[in-house]
Amino acid sequence: MGLPNGVRYVEFDGDERLATCGEPVYGEAVVDGWRRWDPHRSKLGATIELGLETGLDGGPRVLYLGAASGTTVSHVADVAGPTYAVEFAPRPARDLLSVAESRRNLIPLLADARQPERYAHVVESDLDLLVQDVATRGQTDVALSNRRFLAEEGRLVLAIKSRSEDVTAAPEEVFERSLDRLESGYEILETARLEPFHADHLAVVAAPR
Ligand code: SAM
Repeated sequence: MGLPNGVRYVEFDGDERLATCGEPVYGEAVVDGWRRWDPHRSKLGATIELGLETGLDGGPRVLYLGAASGTTVSHVADVAGPTYAVEFAPRPARDLLSVAESRRNLIPLLADARQPERYAHVVESDLDLLVQDVATRGQTDVALSNRRFLAEEGRLVLAIKSRSEDVTAAPEEVFERSLDRLESGYEILETARLEPFHADHLAVVAAPR
């Protein structure tokens, strides 16, 4: 599959790197307005780099769970439509607020992604894309409880960190269990291990059932 609209390979110091066009945020390299999107710093960036179909094409309306200080969600907002960014830790959320200042389509929400009812009055329904990178125990349950925001033909792009679920179990075992559980609400379309960019992470692309 090709890259989503608005995401390109741009030459940085002689190497072709993933990039989006927008205000710089975290000291990333910029060439002619194109900001380098480093897959080592972004699970979604790695997922795109590995060729999965993320549904980021065509200016989607997005709910992003686990926005932290806005590294990845800033790239998402460069190419997407309205982008709701949920983060529950106050410190990174402060940085996220300043990222949102230069992106009118980025709506930061200081909220717990395990309690979607707390932001259901703000977030639109029938969204095109749910991106999740929360790296805490119960990642599958978070994806299941936020499924309500997705349109029927929407997509989930989930990064599962095995160590957040179980530090002792083999990652394959954790991923298998997580996928089994996820299937109660989603049809799994694609999966890929995120090595060499992120150890013991699985990217999952899924459609709501
Ligand atoms: N996605 C970010 C990026 O690429 O720029 C990095 C996210 S970091 C791995 C995980 C983030 O999820 C942390 O900032 C953490 O505070 C947040 N998080 C964890 N559990 C959460 C929850 N239940 N609700 C909201 N945010 C949560």
